[in-house]
Amino acid sequence: MNVDGWRMNQFRVWGLRLPLGNSGEDEIRRALARGLSARIEAIGPITIIRRSLDARDKERGLFWVFTLDVSLGSRPSRFPKGWRVGPVPPAPIASPRTDSRLRGKKVAVVGSGPAGLFSALRLASSGAKVVLLEQGAPLKERVLAVSALWREGTFCEEANVQFGEGGAGTFSDGKLITRLKDPRVRLVLEEFVRAGAPARILEEAHPHVGTDGIRACVGAIRERLLALGVQFRCQAMVEEVLPDARAGWCLLVGNERLCCDAAFLAVGHSSRALFKKLLARGVPFDPKGFAVGGRVEHPQAWVDRNQYGRFAGHPGLPAA
Ligand SMILES: Cc1cc2nc3c(=O)[nH]c(=O)nc-3n(C[C@H](O)[C@H](O)[C@H](O)COP(=O)(O)OP(=O)(O)OC[C@H]3O[C@@H](n4cnc5c(N)ncnc54)[C@H](O)[C@@H]3O)c2cc1C
Repeated sequence: MNVDGWRMNQFRVWGLRLPLGNSGEDEIRRALARGLSARIEAIGPITIIRRSLDARDKERGLFWVFTLDVSLGSRPSRFPKGWRVGPVPPAPIASPRTDSRLRGKKVAVVGSGPAGLFSALRLASSGAKVVLLEQGAPLKERVLAVSALWREGTFCEEANVQFGEGGAGTFSDGKLITRLKDPRVRLVLEEFVRAGAPARILEEAHPHVGTDGIRACVGAIRERLLALGVQFRCQAMVEEVLPDARAGWCLLVGNERLCCDAAFLAVGHSSRALFKKLLARGVPFDPKGFAVGGRVEHPQAWVDRNQYGRFAGHPGLPAA
């Protein structure tokens, strides 16, 4: 770093716009050279931080708008209107922090939705002995049960849209847009890419992997948990969580008493039987406002036409 906070030769550019179809790395470099009044060879490595589509004026055309980290021999003195140029902000947490106090501790994670899967990953990476307990069915059985529900209306209590491996996340739309401003979200997105999601989600303004994509990721995350030594048990419903003077906590799973140093309840919002038991024992609960959403399905072609106008079907565009 030099005195005024600029990382040597590296800075961030916000707002570089390029027309659809002319937005590859060569075009980005040419636009940077023009905008920064630099020779094209003087521009070093560039990293795309964010890419969003501007489809507001469909008549004029569609534009990709980039945020980029750029290396250049010297700090630019001029740049075009509409761009913002500044120091590269501090990097988000580079890798999941591990906590040595967890090494060797036995931790039960209850629920295998996004919260359960990701906490099990962090705990196991820190050396904890993790048992992940899920009341519902494994992925394959669950997919069959849900398609039976949609086809024939047969409801299965332990394998449905909410319950089973991957939790409600498995049947979500795979829009990874929650808390995008939180720097830790990058770690979650990287984990998805490691689990097979396309690398573009790291730079998209509205990362979206789709229902089929998210399902494949859930299977890959399970394999990674198993490789980290996590015991992943489906059809294991936790009926009670009891403090235990010696072990810390004991969970009742059917006839089994499972003792552990710590338990993390990642049970989502529909674990009514367990909530009632905890409430009866005086565990404090906060009511939470709820939102009801409807899902309306349209043919993809309509949605694309509405969003992209005459550009719908362009090979450089994702599904709208
Ligand atoms: C149709 C649909 C589409 C959605 N689309 C999106 C989207 O595009 N983007 C987005 O960000 N969010 C989406 N959501 C919301 C998202 O899926 C949830 O916010 C998320 O799954 C919550 O994660 P969680 O881990 O807290 O709980 P959950 O995913 O609900 O997981 C809890 C798990 O705990 C298990 N469990 C409960 N009680 C017990 C027990 N006593 N013992 C053992 N296991 C237990 C359950 O079986 C379940 O598998 C969608 C949800 C639905 C239903």
